[in-house]
Amino acid sequence: MRLLGAHLSIAGGVSKSIERGVSLGCAAIQIFTGFSNRWHSKPIPDEQLCAFRQQRDRLKVIFAHNNYLINLASPEPVISSRSYESMLEEMERAQALGLPYLVIHPGSHLGRGEEEGLRAVAQHLNSLFADTRGSCLRILLETTAGQGSNLGYRFEHLAKIISSVHSPERVGICFDTCHVFAAGYDLRTQQGYEKTFLEFDRLIGTSAIFAFHLNDSKYELGSRKDRHEHIGQGLLGMEAFRLLLNDERFAHVPMVIETPKGKGGFSGGLSEDKRNLAVLRSLIITEAFPSLPDESL
Ligand SMILES: [Zn+2]
Repeated sequence: MRLLGAHLSIAGGVSKSIERGVSLGCAAIQIFTGFSNRWHSKPIPDEQLCAFRQQRDRLKVIFAHNNYLINLASPEPVISSRSYESMLEEMERAQALGLPYLVIHPGSHLGRGEEEGLRAVAQHLNSLFADTRGSCLRILLETTAGQGSNLGYRFEHLAKIISSVHSPERVGICFDTCHVFAAGYDLRTQQGYEKTFLEFDRLIGTSAIFAFHLNDSKYELGSRKDRHEHIGQGLLGMEAFRLLLNDERFAHVPMVIETPKGKGGFSGGLSEDKRNLAVLRSLIITEAFPSLPDESL
């Protein structure tokens, strides 16, 4: 069984995301634990935590994604400290829900340079881990497309952050297929796929991957543009997903789609998710039963 699923809304209460996941037949889901576009979200009320815990076991894996404002690489002191505070809140909410992972974008250096940006991210992570000592929440650095001054579009960037962190057991990688492809790593053919993961394994190690984002890409290889497309309908194409879904190394790693939602956004319109998940499931090669002699002949 593959741990397939989707990024789902918590509208109506965080436990609603579990109900949505169950209705889609998900084994894994990703959620925002607060507002995705605000610095501050309130702690999750006790009754919601309670409802979440009661339903928790209906899915195999549930993990969180950071809000979009946080930039741990920012050269701007005010933004830098706001990002830190916001990140602490994100970690506390994920911890309160008992989630194993929080996915973050490494950040944008905004002109200070990649080296400095990466150093700032690692420093922040070290302080965050010190401030949440005893927590087993793992921060997953997401591979990025490399738009603007975004860090994380080269595997070397992620390797650099991980090697500078004092608590390696608290970091890992979330591998986004659209972003990696847009960043210039080919996954469209068996050869490209193997070359990409060989490189990843050499620089970081495939065992550091704790989650995948399965998205097709609206833009071409190396475009450095981050625009997700429905599975098989973009420039990445079906073969990449077939290879990934049948790669035994990742059989126990959760894989969630972040493909465009149908009408009604995250809270409604799950039909597009349903379709994309069906496409992905159809690519999984199940072990065939030994064929029985056909007695009708
Ligand atoms: Zn992603």
